[in-house]
Order: sequence, then structure tokens, then C-alpha cells
Amino acid sequence: MKGILNFTIEELKVQFNDIGLVKFRVDQVIDWIYDKGVTSFNQMTNLNFQTQRLLSNNYYIYRPKISKINKSVDGTIKFLLLLDDNMTIETVFIPENHRNTICVSTQVGCAVGCKFCNTGYNGFKRNLTAEEIIGQVLVIKDYVDSWCNVANKISNIVIMGMGEPLYNWHNVSIALENFKLGSERQGINHKHITLSTSGVVPVLEKIIPILKCNLAISLHAPNSTVRSTIMPINDLYHLDSLLAVCRNYNMLYPDKLITFEYLLLNGVNDSPAMVKQLIKLLHGIKCKINLIQFNSWAGGKYQGCSSEKMQDFRKLLIKSGINATIRHSRGKDIMAACGQLQSHK
Ligand code: SF4
Repeated sequence: MKGILNFTIEELKVQFNDIGLVKFRVDQVIDWIYDKGVTSFNQMTNLNFQTQRLLSNNYYIYRPKISKINKSVDGTIKFLLLLDDNMTIETVFIPENHRNTICVSTQVGCAVGCKFCNTGYNGFKRNLTAEEIIGQVLVIKDYVDSWCNVANKISNIVIMGMGEPLYNWHNVSIALENFKLGSERQGINHKHITLSTSGVVPVLEKIIPILKCNLAISLHAPNSTVRSTIMPINDLYHLDSLLAVCRNYNMLYPDKLITFEYLLLNGVNDSPAMVKQLIKLLHGIKCKINLIQFNSWAGGKYQGCSSEKMQDFRKLLIKSGINATIRHSRGKDIMAACGQLQSHK
């Protein structure tokens, strides 16, 4: 049995041909799965019985199981999802006034080991399959009934949950292809998807020419010394090479901005001198900076800085002509905020 979510449309055409189904069946099946949210081939009423049986004998439609749900006072919902091998991941639903966002995970744990991150602190277990990445979105759509309830339409996806997506690029790229499937109401346009990476330079170099969604880079430091202290990946893929890739991105996509994520850590990267270095570092790169409030977690050694300090930091960036926003953490009370995700059973 094969997981049908693991295939792109083009791959499904080949698959269906191999089992004797005509090509147009692919469109019908895709419509049922990605537009109506069905989980069984028997529910596909415009397919005849033989076709339903043939599909059921060859494929299944995956959903992770919801193991636990935590609701924040701000409306954010964190899902602990149980995978078939009993491993768990976290996925977050973030409702806002004019949009609903899902933050998806791409690995069980993470090998990058950023010092401020709870996921990294707990180590790496394995990559998620494409169906496990896509299944996070589908199971949340089931839960909030975005198949029928227009107010709960999922408009945005951020690939910023557990894991480094570029260390699992093959499966992430299938998920990116399939997120857009379905009607205009159900499919999620690449303009509304953001892929966030800690900076796996060789993979970035390869995928930038074909990347359709938005790009966010976890920068978190104004120089290499500070970055290496909090993000060991900087010793592997140096800041200079990362910024060279960003310049190349600007050349290939002159209308797009790169988002640099900058978590403000008290006494580490938040001084006025650091702002000056950051401005110099990003000179000539078309970007915006997302300043992120740090959320401490048990066992972590860093603290966030005050709101005043964040505002001051932002003002200096804006004064220099850099577009900077402050991302207020959502779901802080349920450990669903940035850097807090982990796999608690
Ligand atoms: S911040 Fe992202 S890349 Fe770094 S350890 Fe956490 S999950 Fe991995």
C-alpha cells in the first residue's frame, strides 16, 4: 500500500497509468482529497465501484492522529500529532483577523542544535515523509472544518515548526507542490507560503532558482562570532556564504524581499552596537527584518529582552532605511511560540 499524499500530480499520473486508470482520474481524486477533505476512496462518489476498489487496494490517504490539543488564550491552537511509528510532532494553528496560518514541522526533532531552541535541544530523530508534512495541514483543516467553514480557511503556511526543512528538501518540495492543490478556496498559493531555514547554504544554492514560495533566513546575529555562539550551523556554512546566496536571491527575484528573522536575546544580540553591525551587514540586500520576542523554556539559558529594547532596536533599523517589524509571539502560554516546540507525549 502506498500513501497517495506522497506523490505529486505528475507522479500520480504515472502511478495511475501503471494500475490501468485513465489520466483524468487523477484530477477527480485530487479534488476529493485536497478540496473536499475525504479520507477514503469509498467517499469519492463520482468514481465507479471498481475504481474505488482498485484505489483502495493500492493506496491510502494519510492523516496523523491528534494526540493532544492545547488552546492559548489568544486563540492559537497547538496540536501534538502522533505518527504511525509512535513518534510525535507539534503543529500550530494561528488564527488572525484576516488570515489563518499553520506552522508545520518537517522533522521529528532537529539536528541543527540552535542554542536558544527547545526543538534543537532535544535532538534529531528522523525526517518526516511528504505525507506527514501535508497531513499536518489536512488534519488541522479537519479539526477547524476549513473544508466547509469559510471563516476557518487556511490562508498561509509557514514552514517554521520543528526541524530544518532543507535537510529534508525532497519531501518538503513534494509538500510545497501539493499544498497548492484544490480549488482557490482550499489550495494555498506559494505567495502565502514561507520557507524558513537556518542557512544550509549548499541546498539553498541549488533550490533558489526554482523556489516559488517566500524565503526566510534565521539570522539572529549581526556578526559571525555571535552567530556561531548561538547557531553552530554558522561554523559549517559561514555567514559570508549565506549572505552571498541572499544577494543571488535578490538578483533572481528583484521584486521579492528576503525576511531575516532576528530573535532578540537579552545581553547577547540586542545592544545598539549590534544594530549598527546588523545595518552594515545587510547593506545592499533587499530584505525586511522580523524581530522576534524570545520565549524562555525550562532548561534553556537565554532570556528575552524588554519590549522597550525591542522597540528601540526596531527604530534604529527603520531609521537606517531597513523595513523591520516586531513579531509578537502567539501561543506563548501553551509553549507554541517560536523556539518552544518539542515532542511531549
Ligand atoms: S531553530 Fe530551527 S533549525 Fe534551529 S534547532 Fe530549532 S528547529 Fe532546528
